[in-house]
Amino acid sequence: MLEINNLSIAFKRYNGWLGRTELRPIRCLDLEIEQGRIVSVVGESGAGKSLLAHAILGLLPANARVSGELRFDGHALTPGRIRRLRGREIALIPQSTGFLNPLKPVGAQVARAARLSGKSAGQALSARDSAFAQYGLDDAVKTMFPYQISGGMARRVLTAAATVGQARLILADEPTSGMDGDNSRKALSSLRALADQGRCVLLITHDIEAAIAISDSVAVFRNGVTIEAAAAADFKSIDGLRHPYTRQLVSALPEKKFIGAVNGRVPITRNGGQGCAHYGECPLETQICYQSAPHRKQIRNGWARCHHA
Ligand code: SF4
Repeated sequence: MLEINNLSIAFKRYNGWLGRTELRPIRCLDLEIEQGRIVSVVGESGAGKSLLAHAILGLLPANARVSGELRFDGHALTPGRIRRLRGREIALIPQSTGFLNPLKPVGAQVARAARLSGKSAGQALSARDSAFAQYGLDDAVKTMFPYQISGGMARRVLTAAATVGQARLILADEPTSGMDGDNSRKALSSLRALADQGRCVLLITHDIEAAIAISDSVAVFRNGVTIEAAAAADFKSIDGLRHPYTRQLVSALPEKKFIGAVNGRVPITRNGGQGCAHYGECPLETQICYQSAPHRKQIRNGWARCHHA
């Protein structure tokens, strides 16, 4: 359903009158999601995960330069096509609760999302009520404004708004952030249920345990590059992994959460953007890792980008 090949996103930044520099937070992303599947994208802050969701929805700022291939149902996602699909076929559960309109009751916002997806006024109200019940939101919450509800409730409202329509692809950007354990489990189960009903879910998260528990496959981002992708089951033990970075993370972090870099520092690219995305932090690196970016290597039923995998 969704295919992303060699995606790169760059931004121009002006320094004074004449100086211009280019930032390239996404260098080479590849991803594929089929109907009825959940693919999780995991990586630390700054790895490019949220930019990916914004690129799919055409929500990047005007100074962004995008190259590579983005396809939905076999056809290119052009700006015009994205506008037609957004909200109807592709929906976002955003990371920030600031996406809620502060001036409208949250119930009206969920009903509007249902209307935008193509439902009649009557169907939209009944879909809103079902979504509220599904995400454990009381009837009284419908008439409340965003400032009157907790962060966790706001996240459930955003999830209800994204799933209330007929969207076939749900982009869930850290959908459990700010939720307690119980509501977090319910939200993840509801994403699994949506996939089991035939929708696709792209789950963006730093929580690899959640990713492994509910996904069919997992893609790992490192400094704007997909460095490994494979079945979720492969991530349950070090032996199943192909890339040194993934092995370091899964073995070094007891809670298996991608909060910082391997050694707790925010990652930096030490080789000016050339070479391997993990160069400078990798125990196996050699000169070739600095000089050239590794290509995708098929290994068993998954792949990795590493010269020495
Ligand atoms: S290409 Fe080199 S630096 Fe990159 S992960 Fe493989 S061994 Fe490490």
